[in-house]
Amino acid sequence: MSQFKLEKQKRIALIAHDNRKQDLVSWAMKRKQLLSNHFLCGTGTTSAMISQHTGLSVKAYQSGPLGGDQQIGACIVANEVNFMVFFWDPLAAQPHDPDVKALLRIAVLYDVPVAMNQSSADFFLTSSLMEEEYERNVLDFSQLKKRTF
Ligand code: PGA
Repeated sequence: MSQFKLEKQKRIALIAHDNRKQDLVSWAMKRKQLLSNHFLCGTGTTSAMISQHTGLSVKAYQSGPLGGDQQIGACIVANEVNFMVFFWDPLAAQPHDPDVKALLRIAVLYDVPVAMNQSSADFFLTSSLMEEEYERNVLDFSQLKKRTF
């Protein structure tokens, strides 16, 4: 069995920048039933707001600007997060822009589905693939690791 298989129950990280939090909360309320089939986690404030408004259990990591994005990136590497809904703000720079970029990079590297706005989140969550196992396409770095200098 591959290390990078998404099981039927996905491990979803939920993140929203401040100007996008209300949108993510509204979306999560609308999609509560579907979200309840999966393990949920997220950055500190986003998790708390989604828990509060939906009643769903959401494991909270640190707040994004305090390292939460980096923690979620590390979870992707450890295969503890394999799906992400990240409403980042296209109209405002963030103090933790480097962390945001790093998180998006690691998500692409590990072939993690990332929904970044409401329509993509709707399409993703209602996809039949949400009910199935799915093999991610992660680069095989084993040859690179064997390199000698
Ligand atoms: P927050 O972090 O959910 O703790 O606000 C999100 C972010 O700004 O990256």
